[in-house]
Amino acid sequence: NNIEIGSPTRTRAIMEAYGLHFKKSLGQNFLTDINILRKIVTSAEITTADDVIEIGPGIGALTEQLAQNAHQVLALEIDQRLIPVLGETLAPYDNVTVVNQDVLQADLSQLVATHFTGDRPLKVVANLPYYITTKIIMNLLDSGVALDKIVIMVQKEVADRLAATPQTKDYGSLSVAVQYAMDVQTAFIVPKTVFVPQPKVDSAIAVLTRKTEARVQPQDESHFRTLVKGSFMHRRKSLWNNLQGLYGKDADVKAKMQTALTKAEIAPSVRAEALTVEDFIRLSDCLLAAGV
Ligand code: SAM
Repeated sequence: NNIEIGSPTRTRAIMEAYGLHFKKSLGQNFLTDINILRKIVTSAEITTADDVIEIGPGIGALTEQLAQNAHQVLALEIDQRLIPVLGETLAPYDNVTVVNQDVLQADLSQLVATHFTGDRPLKVVANLPYYITTKIIMNLLDSGVALDKIVIMVQKEVADRLAATPQTKDYGSLSVAVQYAMDVQTAFIVPKTVFVPQPKVDSAIAVLTRKTEARVQPQDESHFRTLVKGSFMHRRKSLWNNLQGLYGKDADVKAKMQTALTKAEIAPSVRAEALTVEDFIRLSDCLLAAGV
């Protein structure tokens, strides 16, 4: 069969042949537009030098395009009904491995060590299941695996949050946590009409590229993450208020926080949304130095 998997005709034929129905609870909205699929691969700058991890291959529409351009593709699919389907649709490609795995349960560094040689650029490319988008992104960043690019279809609203700059309504802990490690760009907007079934919202392709320049690092990454999360806990409140919520209201703690803020040259009255990634790193280091 030489009609591409992601074409509307072939997708319909596969769904019918296997008697499949879409599982809403697994975020199954399949892409049926070959141009969009190709544009995703182009945005990820996939070459035969690259190893690729795909999350949620579905019936293999994006997987096929990746297999045609990458060195090796490892695809993690939670829905066991789709495993035999993928076995057939991707049979022409000998550089694809499909694993029946929940990405949130997977040990990514273990999988990477098992499936890849480790001497090639490693990229994640996926049309994400939207019910767990931010969890997947945070897990990828926390995994310790050196990912050169993460190219993902997300809800447009999430793409806006990923790329947001300080002093905007979309800027929050997700923006800081991601931008700390990756440069973020929105490659293009995707209308809901190219999916079956159609989701309720428009989508966008977010391109996260690992920062190459020697970046400023916090002394303690987990302290930094806790600080960022806690600072945005109540967006309307001042940084000072959120810090008390995070570290406590004892006179002793308050004095230490005051010392740290002064040293970091950050006014307690500002809101978290005014702070840059660098501000958060400096504040985390100063809080640690002050014993908070
Ligand atoms: N890649 C296909 C495409 O572009 O048409 C399907 C994308 S669909 C939006 C999301 C896929 O992720 C589905 O195949 C779904 O079964 C799978 N999925 C959902 N939750 C998952 C999880 N926790 N781990 C791995 N895959 C998951």
